[in-house]
Amino acid sequence: MNILVVGGGAREHAICDAVDRSKNVKLFSFMSNLNPGIKKLSQDYYLDKITNIEKVVEFAKLNGIDIALIGPEAPLEVGIVNELKNAGISACAPTKNAARIETDKEWMRNLLKKYKIPGQLKCKTFKDVEKAKKFIEDLDCEVALKPIGLTGGKGVKVSGDHFNSVDEALNYVKEVIENKIGGEAKILIEEKAIGEEFTLQAFSDGDTISPLPAVQDHKRLLPNDKGPNTGGMGSYSCDNGLLPFLSKSYYEEGAAILQKIVESLKKEGCKYVGPIYGQFMLTINGPKIIEINARFGDPEAMNVLPLIETDFIEICNSMLNGNLDKIKLKLKKKSTVCKYIVPKGYGVKSMVGEEIFVDEEKINSKDSILFYASVNKEGNIVKTTSSR
Ligand code: AMP
Repeated sequence: MNILVVGGGAREHAICDAVDRSKNVKLFSFMSNLNPGIKKLSQDYYLDKITNIEKVVEFAKLNGIDIALIGPEAPLEVGIVNELKNAGISACAPTKNAARIETDKEWMRNLLKKYKIPGQLKCKTFKDVEKAKKFIEDLDCEVALKPIGLTGGKGVKVSGDHFNSVDEALNYVKEVIENKIGGEAKILIEEKAIGEEFTLQAFSDGDTISPLPAVQDHKRLLPNDKGPNTGGMGSYSCDNGLLPFLSKSYYEEGAAILQKIVESLKKEGCKYVGPIYGQFMLTINGPKIIEINARFGDPEAMNVLPLIETDFIEICNSMLNGNLDKIKLKLKKKSTVCKYIVPKGYGVKSMVGEEIFVDEEKINSKDSILFYASVNKEGNIVKTTSSR
């Protein structure tokens, strides 16, 4: 089987690694940076913007791709799955409409309301700063402010972390509305959830989900929750699939929420096939939904994908064929820690184009796995980009 992976970060390297461990596969990749780990595993690769869907489809056709796997959200938003399907290529990822669960936060919250899904937070969208003011005041300024569309993980601002007064909150509300941050002259304001955050990723065939071990990631740049929020500095999971603060029943509540979301997406006429990601806050009132993503998380993919012992492509096929319930997911009983190594200045202003020396042999000899992230291979030299 010929498999295409789209994306050139560490999450995609982890996906490629899972594909490489499957039987009878040939891997092809499409990325915007030359990830040396992905290159090594691929029969062939193509370098271009990953939202250049036409090129992705052309490359997929040229290589007789049977299944495409999409790492990041940006190509999903522009309908990569729809275009691949039009060209007769299966993709184990959601269509443009189903991916709205991530790409349109207002639509996502409305879906939760319509289907009375548990774990909701008080929330409302606003186009008008004055009306937003009343809502923020009513919630004692304990709010999260969110642009409606994708912002590369940098658009959300939370009270206590990013602002401390109604005036400061309103400045950001104004900025988002006036500059159409996230694509619309609108903002979503949510009640702030207080507790411990956790991630639950699952496979979905559109009817059933198969949940994976819970993961907690660390967004702050520095130890002890100091410094600015980043895309994620690292993450961990435990051998029992739970987390030190997460009991089995709360884990199951989270999984039941994801299951209900998948069911409601089907009722809305946009069946969800592929990996789905739930970010939850475990509050004193149980798990609350912070966000849903239409893909694996980064870094969380690096925790769970290496644990999967079941043939990964067999899982992908069962998602596509609608018989995920027939697959017994086999996982290694191991705890995992993922640690990102980032360019100097990351989170503020990264040093781009710096040479990196990686001793792959030594890393592998320590029972560790190395995943390359957004680095670039130029000749024989690996260099930093502005990202992790
Ligand atoms: P997002 O970009 O949606 O992942 O949000 C970034 C981070 O903001 C999340 O990981 C949470 O830590 C925080 N956050 C988002 N929404 C809320 C909320 N309603 N309450 C508390 N924290 C939130």
